[in-house]
Amino acid sequence: MKVLFASSEMYPYAKSGGLADVAASLPKSLAEFVDISTLMPFYSFMKKDGLIMEHSDEIELGEVSYGLKFYKKANTTTYFVEAALLSDTQNLYADEFGDYANNDLRFGIFSKAIIVLAKKLEVELLHLNDWHTALSSLYLKEEKSKIKTILTIHNLAYQGLFSKDSLERLSIDKKYFNTDGLEFYDKVNFLKAGIAYSDAITTVSPTYAKEILTQEFGCGLDGFLNYHKDKLYGVLNGIDKTLFNPKTDKYLYKNYDYNSLEIKQENKKAFLKTFSLKKSKLPLFVMITRIVEQKGIDLIIESLKKLVSKKLNLLIVGEGSSEFATKLERLSNKYENFEFINTYNEELSHKIYAAADFLLMPSRFEPCGLNQMIAMSYGTLPIVHEVGGLKDSVVDDVDGIVFKDESKKDLLRAVKRAIKLKKNSEKFNSMRITAMKKNLSFTKSALKYIEIYKKVIA
Ligand code: ADP
Repeated sequence: MKVLFASSEMYPYAKSGGLADVAASLPKSLAEFVDISTLMPFYSFMKKDGLIMEHSDEIELGEVSYGLKFYKKANTTTYFVEAALLSDTQNLYADEFGDYANNDLRFGIFSKAIIVLAKKLEVELLHLNDWHTALSSLYLKEEKSKIKTILTIHNLAYQGLFSKDSLERLSIDKKYFNTDGLEFYDKVNFLKAGIAYSDAITTVSPTYAKEILTQEFGCGLDGFLNYHKDKLYGVLNGIDKTLFNPKTDKYLYKNYDYNSLEIKQENKKAFLKTFSLKKSKLPLFVMITRIVEQKGIDLIIESLKKLVSKKLNLLIVGEGSSEFATKLERLSNKYENFEFINTYNEELSHKIYAAADFLLMPSRFEPCGLNQMIAMSYGTLPIVHEVGGLKDSVVDDVDGIVFKDESKKDLLRAVKRAIKLKKNSEKFNSMRITAMKKNLSFTKSALKYIEIYKKVIA
C-alpha cells in the first residue's frame, strides 16, 4: 500500500505543538507496515541543507498560477513543497498581529500541492491532518479521483474559517457551499470540507472521538460529525521513545532510567540551582504548555494563591495569550515558590520533564495530549483532568493522578493527594517505575491506522 502523509508542521523542521511531534513519529511507525512518504510546506525560516530538488510543477487557483517546487530530504521519504505565499511567512500561521490574512490561499495552495505529489508518487491513499490539508479531499472529489483520503483531527477547536470570498480565490465551485459541504454559518470551513469528503475521519483518542459528538466538545460541528459518525474512529497517539528517553536524552544534566531514579533527583537539584525556586526538597510541580484557556491556565491563575500556600514549588513554562502571561508574571513576582518562564524552548522542556516530580494538566478539553505521556516516560507523574486523551492515557493511582471536575476544589484535592504521595516514597517510586515502563510507543497506534487504511482502500 502506498500512502502520502501530509501535515503543515513536522518536528524538527517546524513545530507549534503536538501535531508536529505526531507528524514526525507516526509515519515512522507506519513505515513498518506500508510504503509511506510525508509532505510538509517549506517555510522561509527553514534551511535547505540536505534537501534535493525533485520536481517542479504549477497549479491554478482563482485563475492565478502558482509555481511549486518539491524538495526531498536526502535518504528519506520526506518531501517539502515551496510556493509563493505558502512559504513566504516568518511563522507558521500567525504573527504578533494575528493570523495571516491569506491563510486560506496559503493552505489552499498546500492542499493542491499535496494532490500533485500524491499523483506523482502514485499513492492510493492520502493521510491528511487538520484543516490546513483538509481541502485536498474536496479537490479530489471534484476531479472524481480514485485516491482515497483519511483525515485526522488533532484539535477540533481549529477549523480554518474564512469569509465566503475565499471560494473564488480557491476555485471551489459554489455547489459545495451548503450545509452538507463546507458552509458554516455563511463562512467557508476547511475542516468541515475534510469531514464531508474524506473516506474516513480519525481523531487522536477514543474518548475525544466520543466527546466531539456532544455539544460541549463539538465546537459547533457535533451535529455534522454525528451525521458522519460511521466513518469516525479514535486512535490514541503515542510518543517517540527515541526522542523522549531519559536514558539517552542529550539535554539532561545526567541520564537515568527506572533502575536509577536517584539520578532523577540530581537532575532536579541541578535544575533548581539555575532558578529562584531553591528549596529542592519540596515537590516540584510543572506545566509545559501553550498558555491558553484549553490548557486550564485560567483555573491555575484562580487557584494560585491556594496552590502556593501548600508546601510545593510550581513552575510554568510556555507561550501563548499575552493576557495570561502578564497575570502569571505578576504572580511569579509575588510568590517565591512560583515561577513563570514565558518561552518556548525544546531543550529547557526536556530538562524540566526530567527535574519535575509532577506535571499538572488541568486541560478543559484535550484531544490527546502528549505532555502527560512525555512526563510519564521521564518518571514524572501526571496530574490530569479526566477528559479526552488524558482519560485514555493516565490511570489514577497507578501511573498518575486523575481528577473528575475542572474545578478549583478538585484541582487542589489532586495536588494535596500528590504531596501526600510524594511523602510515601515506596508508593511514589513504584508509580514512577510503572509510568516509565508503560508502553506509549506509536506502534500500537500504527496498527490501528493500518486497519482503517485497509477498510478505506477495500
Ligand atoms: P498541544 O498540541 O495542544 O499544544 P500536546 O500535549 O499535544 O499539546 O503537545 C505539546 C508539545 O509541545 C509537547 O511536545 C510539549 O513538550 C511541547 N511544548 C509545549 N509548550 C512548550 C514550551 N513552552 N517549550 C517547549 N516545548 C513545549
